[in-house]
This record gives sequence, C-alpha cells and structure tokens, in this order.
Amino acid sequence: MIDRDPEVSDASWIVAGGRPSGAGDPLNVPPVPASNFLLDDDGGGASYARGDATPTWTALEMVLGGLEGADAVTFSSGMAAIGAVFELLPVGAHVTIPADCYQGVAGVVADGETRGRWTADRVATDDTDGWLAAAADTDLLWIETPSNPLLLVGDLGAVAAAGRRPGSLLVVDNTFATPLNQRPLDVGADISIQSTTKFIGGHSDLLGGVATTRDPNLLSRLRQIRTLYGATPGALESYLALRGVRTLAVRLAQSQASANVLARRLSAHQAVERVRYPGLPSDPGHALASAQLGGFGSIVTFDVAGGIGPANRVCARLRLIHHATSLGGVESTIERRASIPGQEHLPPGLLRLSVGIETVDDLWADLDRALAD
Ligand SMILES: *Cc1c(COP(=O)(O)O)cnc(C)c1O
Repeated sequence: MIDRDPEVSDASWIVAGGRPSGAGDPLNVPPVPASNFLLDDDGGGASYARGDATPTWTALEMVLGGLEGADAVTFSSGMAAIGAVFELLPVGAHVTIPADCYQGVAGVVADGETRGRWTADRVATDDTDGWLAAAADTDLLWIETPSNPLLLVGDLGAVAAAGRRPGSLLVVDNTFATPLNQRPLDVGADISIQSTTKFIGGHSDLLGGVATTRDPNLLSRLRQIRTLYGATPGALESYLALRGVRTLAVRLAQSQASANVLARRLSAHQAVERVRYPGLPSDPGHALASAQLGGFGSIVTFDVAGGIGPANRVCARLRLIHHATSLGGVESTIERRASIPGQEHLPPGLLRLSVGIETVDDLWADLDRALAD
C-alpha cells in the first residue's frame, strides 16, 4: 500500500503526492529520471525503477489514488493499463465488453479471441438488462461510461449490484468522466482505469494510464504485471501528468460548461442532424447520467447532415478547433470517427468534439462558420 500523507485528505489532492519537508525544497515533486538507485549496506532498498518505482510516478500515484479513494498503479499508456487488467484473467476466461467501446479495447479483445486466450460477448452500454444477464456468467464485465464516442450511459449501480461469478471482475473505463464526475469504486467496481493521456494530463503532451483499486490482491497483481511486462510510466510523462492533474478541476469545470452550451446550440443548428450529449434533457442517457455523474463531461458528439462530405468539410473549415484525434486537452479537437480503422460502423457524418478551455463564444463562432452553407 502507498503511504499516504496523513495530513492530506482525499479532497486535498491539489497538494497531495509529496510535500516539501524543509526550507529550500521545491514545492512540487520534480521529474526524477532514474533507472537504478543506491542500495543500502545490506543490499536492500529500492534498487531498479521497473519494479520499485521512481519518486515522480509514486507522487502521481498518490494523487490519482486519492482522487478515487484507492491505490493507483500508473502505466506507460491507457492501453498498457488496460492490457494489465486483461492479463489478470485466467486462460480461457469469458469477458463481456460494450458493443460500442474504445476501439483499442475492442481490438485487444478481438485479438485474444483469435488466439484462444478468452471468449467474449458484447452488450450495448445502455442495455442494462443485457449487462444483468451477462453478469452471472462472465469473468470480466468491462464497462465504459459515458462511452467513446457515442456517449451512451451505462447503469453502473445496477450492474455492480448484480449477482456475479465468484472471482469475476467489474472494471470501469473512467476516462471520459474522470474521477471528479464519477467514482466507480464507490458503487462497487473492482478496478477503475483511465487513459491519463486525456483529461488527467490535459495538455496533449503525454501518454499515460492508471488503474485504481481498493483490493490489495488486485493491487499487488497489477504491480506485478507491470514489473513483469515493463509498461512503466516515464519520469517526464509522470511529471507532466502530475502537473496536469493539479488543474483538472478548473479545466473540467470550464470545458464541460462550454460543452453544455455548445451541445444546445448545435442541437438548434439546421446543418446538424443529431447531437449526443448526456447533459441534453432530450438525450436517452440524460436521466441516468443526472443520477450517476457529477457533471456531463466535455465531449459532444454530433452528426452532420449529409454524411462524409459535409462532415469532412466542417473539420477542414474550423480554425480555432483543431482537426485532430484524441481528447481531454486544453485545446478543442474534432474528428470524424468513422474514418478511424475499426470505427467504420459509426454514422459517416459523426464528429466527436472534445471541448477545451477556450472562450465558449469563440468556439461557437468557429463551429457556426464551419457549419454554414
Ligand atoms: C484514449 C482512450 C484509451 C486508451 O488510452 P491511451 O492512453 O491512448 O493508450 C482507453 N479508453 C478510452 C475511453 C480512451 O479515450
């Protein structure tokens, strides 16, 4: 278990992860790019970073663990964290994943199916009955809510309360919600994972991932898998993520307030066929999202009328909003998701907009101009 500073409550994560102990100390933990460490006289102590951690990633784990009220294991990317979770499964396990989920997870599961590593079923994120039916007979329930990119909302409380196979895992991909809007472990998930590349880092300048858990056995297994396979976070990335997470609350507050405004304005725009955003009262996931989430998030997905051509034209005409993949940065990004390999099933005109912290009226002016005839 990580030794938390007893004076720092989970709510004080802005300063968590290491405090200066004396005059002249830096206020924040600096990047420590070390692979090996001086041993003590008996040959003990932290020796090698892959197994024993570096001060920078330990600080980041304290903050990310504090956010979920758990212990955290950080990785070199979101997919590395996800890979470690799947590696927990016995050979021949059965897994249940969302029909609409992050394409990397879909890819891992399909790859494992081809190799005979596990068998899999897929359930729509918002099909609560489907998840309840799956729960009794699977080794891993993998839920992503709100989902990427359709922003479907899954009923975490209902699934967590369902009768499950002994030893099975309920894992939530919390990347879109962040622990500020949703704490899956509080409702009974075994592991919550995030791509820290997105909102935690927040500046489109790092790759990272994290798994959090309150179960000491899972914690030590996840650490062991990281040590064995070596998907450890870099010192610079950990430092950047630590620096990013300090401002998560203010970035998220601003970007999700703007997302709300933009979702409403887009809904009223004649060039837009449909807006998917759980904060809209008309959204099918609105009631559940209102009960389950602390905020509706900073991602808005919308379908441009006319499909591929008009949607591509919108992306090309935007000037403030970057035509780029990924999400969760201070700068807004937009992408036509059906252009991504493995995402061809999505509506051809569907754009995923990650709202940043620019002035909302500037963002709207950019969108309105790009959507004009
Ligand atoms: C980006 C993302 C991932 C993968 O994370 P990487 O850091 O790119 O490896 C997993 N889940 C969701 C929901 C994501 O958006």
